[in-house]
Amino acid sequence: MVWRVVSALIVMLASASPRAEEAPDSIFFVGRTVEYIPGTLPLIIAAPHGGQLEPADIPDRKDGVTTRDAETDLLAVDLADAITRRTGARPHLILCHLHRKKVDCNRDALTGTGGNPKALATWRAFHEAIGKARSAARHGLFLDLHGHSHPAPKVEIGYLLSEEQLREQGPAFAALAPISGIAALAKTTPGTFEALVRGPLSLGGLLESAGYPSVPSPTSPDPGEEPYFRGGYNTARYRSGGADDGFFALQIECPRPGVRDTEENRRRFAEAFAVALERWMEHHAGIPLRTQAGPKGGSE
Ligand SMILES: [Zn+2]
Repeated sequence: MVWRVVSALIVMLASASPRAEEAPDSIFFVGRTVEYIPGTLPLIIAAPHGGQLEPADIPDRKDGVTTRDAETDLLAVDLADAITRRTGARPHLILCHLHRKKVDCNRDALTGTGGNPKALATWRAFHEAIGKARSAARHGLFLDLHGHSHPAPKVEIGYLLSEEQLREQGPAFAALAPISGIAALAKTTPGTFEALVRGPLSLGGLLESAGYPSVPSPTSPDPGEEPYFRGGYNTARYRSGGADDGFFALQIECPRPGVRDTEENRRRFAEAFAVALERWMEHHAGIPLRTQAGPKGGSE
């Protein structure tokens, strides 16, 4: 109880001062439209749709979705901070600060920029930063962070498997592992592909036990009739392809209520997500994110 009060106070104090816009080691590209904070963990977090800059000299995009995934830039920072607090080491973090009206870094270059040279410069810088992070990390998880406004407030975990594919079971489901975003992980997990995607120790299972309904998960093995994002351009691009380089990729689509609607909810979710990722990476990939002995303020 006392800790709850202290926690609330910490949140209040933290929110009294705005987030330091720049982490000390932020690197900016193309007029501060792309921010890269290098890390040391085999974990790369990208937020392509949280940007708010709307420079007048870049025309609005005419095709495709142009709505911003509100506060996913802040959520990405909160998640990276939570992981750093717990493990003593930083994930790589890449943020696009240009509004989605101007550029979509989760589409191919032409669709995402409409061919505008300035938008294209940002698009390229975003992907070059991911390239740098991949070279430094050499293996591990690429996590593309998004926000959805679907009716069901579930965390949607995109493995590049469609609703129809997620309805498969048994051997037919196991046969989908090589085309999923986590093909590399399917080779290291101690259990089945089914357990990796929707068992109790799947990411959805771990998030659900922390109080965040998720799909796929033990209780929602497939999306049913509900809308669902399976993962897009970045997830497909940054999974291990034929190169078999040990990268696996997820698109995480966060609902707004209880997850990114207030600063306190965002931080609480970031902490729970950090705990879930830590267990998930260790169990399925054999990668312990915690590089220093003992938790640093973690509460697991
Ligand atoms: Zn998005």
